Amino acid sequence: MAKILIVEDEKAINNLIRKNLEAVGHDCVSVFDGEAVFDALEKQEFDLILLDIMLPKLDGFEVIEHLGDAEIPVIFLTARGSVDDRVRGLKLGADDYITKPFHILELQARVEAVLRRAQKADKSFELGDVRVDLSGRKVYFKGRAVDFTPQEYALIEAFIRNRNIALSRDKLLEIAWGYEFGGDTRTVDAHISRIRKKLQWENVIKTVYKLGYRLEAKK
Ligand code: CA
Repeated sequence: MAKILIVEDEKAINNLIRKNLEAVGHDCVSVFDGEAVFDALEKQEFDLILLDIMLPKLDGFEVIEHLGDAEIPVIFLTARGSVDDRVRGLKLGADDYITKPFHILELQARVEAVLRRAQKADKSFELGDVRVDLSGRKVYFKGRAVDFTPQEYALIEAFIRNRNIALSRDKLLEIAWGYEFGGDTRTVDAHISRIRKKLQWENVIKTVYKLGYRLEAKK
């Protein structure tokens, strides 16, 4: 779990990002203009900043220049096609950029990659015969790699990052297919049943009555 500061003046986008990152266990704070970044940084430490470029008061470039030597990874949020913005952002020291509009799985993957480079994310998870390599996004059962679809992997990663916590079917749908996917929660059930079979996890991923599922990983 990382502390992430989301700097985006479009409230709908800011909320969408926050919901999706909180769904995979991160702790997020939203601010809506460039100056508010520095108020937030005075109050607490962050592991990562998601920084829009076009912002009221101070724009994203000014924010990153004001950050100076602060060693917080930054991912820029850029509008489609603005190559100059990306190059300028990376030159100023941004760790990555995401082009809007983006798919939520791409956002989560880039966030995890940057946190991993900054060594703030778990690298692997082991439980019984199962090992999940969170850096390489691979799942092993009794030492052998198991085929996982991107959605199955998104689900297992969410379970691992939120272990021992019940996750609702709606939440899981959001995590694996994106917040705006109008899918059916029965899709989640079908995927969970495949994951249980592949890993012999019938008693590890518990069904939580009327809610959803929970990964039981008590030490
Ligand atoms: Ca903006």
